[in-house]
Amino acid sequence: MVQLKCLSLSSILGEENFPMKFAVDCMLGKLAKWLKILGFNTLYFSIVEDSHLLALAKKEGRVLLTRDNDLLEKAKDIPSLFIESEDWNTQVAQVLNEFDLWQDIEPNSRCIECNVKLKNLPRSRAKNLVVPFVYDRATAFAICPRCDRVFWQGTHYQDMEFKIEEIMKMKKIKGGKHGKSC
Ligand SMILES: [Zn+2]
Repeated sequence: MVQLKCLSLSSILGEENFPMKFAVDCMLGKLAKWLKILGFNTLYFSIVEDSHLLALAKKEGRVLLTRDNDLLEKAKDIPSLFIESEDWNTQVAQVLNEFDLWQDIEPNSRCIECNVKLKNLPRSRAKNLVVPFVYDRATAFAICPRCDRVFWQGTHYQDMEFKIEEIMKMKKIKGGKHGKSC
C-alpha cells in the first residue's frame, strides 16, 4: 500500500482526529453510508466516472475502497484497499481492522448527505427546528452546518447502536490471523 500523505490536508480541514479519509467505489454504497454513520470522512457517489473518483481521492488524500479489480488496477498511485466481503457488516469491520480505527469511531457525528461534521445544537435552539413529538423525546440534538438538517438521538439511534454493536463484535484481536473476524 502507498504511504498515506493526508495529514496536512486533514489539519487544514480541522479534522485532526480523523486523518483517515476514504473514497468509496459506487458499488459499495452501504459501506460508505456506515463509515459516515461511524463518523469517518467518506466520499461517495452512486454514479461516478472512475477517473473522476480517482482524481478526487488523489487530490484529497483519500484511501480508495473498492471491490473492483479494474478500478484497483487504475489506482496504482493511490492508497487502496480491496474489500473482500459482499456483506456490509464484514466490509466495515475489514476497514476498521485494516487501519486500526476502532478507537476513532464517533457514531452520528457526521451528516450522511454532506459528509461534514455535525455541530451540537442546544436544546433551546432545537425547539423551533423539530416537531414537538421529537423535541419531547430526543435526548440530544445536532445540526449539519452545510444543509441545516437537524439530527437527534431517539428511537432510530437505539437501532443504530445495536447495529454498531454487531460490527464491534468483528473487531480483530491484535496479533490474530489477518482478515479473520473473531
Ligand atoms: Zn448536511
